[in-house]
Amino acid sequence: SVTVYSHRHYDIDKEIFSAFEKETGIQVLVKEDKASKLIELISQKKDAADILITVDVARLDQAKNKNILQPIQSDYINSRVPSNFMDSDYMWFGLTKRYRVLAYSKERVNPVDIKNYTDLAQPKWKGKIAVRSSGNTYNQSLMASVIANSDQTKAETWAKSLVANFSRSPKGNDRDQVKEVAADRADIAIINTYYLGKLLNSENEQEVEAGKSVGLIFPNQENSGAHVNISGIGVCKYAPNKDNAIQLIEYLLSDKVQELYSAANYEYPIVKDIPICDLLQSWGSFREDTIALEEIGQLNTAALEVFARAGWE
Ligand code: FE
Repeated sequence: SVTVYSHRHYDIDKEIFSAFEKETGIQVLVKEDKASKLIELISQKKDAADILITVDVARLDQAKNKNILQPIQSDYINSRVPSNFMDSDYMWFGLTKRYRVLAYSKERVNPVDIKNYTDLAQPKWKGKIAVRSSGNTYNQSLMASVIANSDQTKAETWAKSLVANFSRSPKGNDRDQVKEVAADRADIAIINTYYLGKLLNSENEQEVEAGKSVGLIFPNQENSGAHVNISGIGVCKYAPNKDNAIQLIEYLLSDKVQELYSAANYEYPIVKDIPICDLLQSWGSFREDTIALEEIGQLNTAALEVFARAGWE
């Protein structure tokens, strides 16, 4: 068997794990929870898990610093994951990419009016920006990228003006922010790309309508590129089933699974030249930030400081 502690909360993962079980005869035992909780559990009971999967790079960096991961040398993994999406000590590897982008009201916003993350701080968007709380790791990594691309002081100035533009005190998840735009209580929502895919393909008609009411802006196309985060994976330091763990990671990086992450969960494959689904193709090609994700993870504490000083709840 192989025991997976995962923060991923997507249905497709269950299907992927059963397919792996059928192909290899290795049973996959999954425990889903928040990464912070899973990291705590692994720190307490060291041989509890073989693999940690997170939905954000900051938690991978945290797991590395807590000394619960081990370096993995696999030529296959190294050939599949671009170097900026893996840890330089081979402790963790990206599985999928997700961009933190702007979902704008097709009715009320002309997309040429907003090009960069910094533009969100312009006074013209007062009361118009919907975004979730700063406790959310996706926002923390976005802030880390803003710091990386300027500095902490500038990031703080930006954050203060952005907070002044909030349509409400941050609450809810990314999908809820799009619903705020659909309900005309905000004009722009900051969201991860795949959540728009989930809304558009929802069984709930209101969610589909909310999804249809927005378009996506991939920011920073004339400078650093759109902020990209990863869902990623690492082998635990005291993994009882290390070989099975490596086999599972390699399976998740196969063409077949990488394509499925896009087709079924609207994420972008981490592996280059994997076909993406029609919806992702419809969003077009764009420039992505090429900064090493490791650096984004390491700036997490600085990001938290900026949030605190800017009053971003
Ligand atoms: Fe998510």
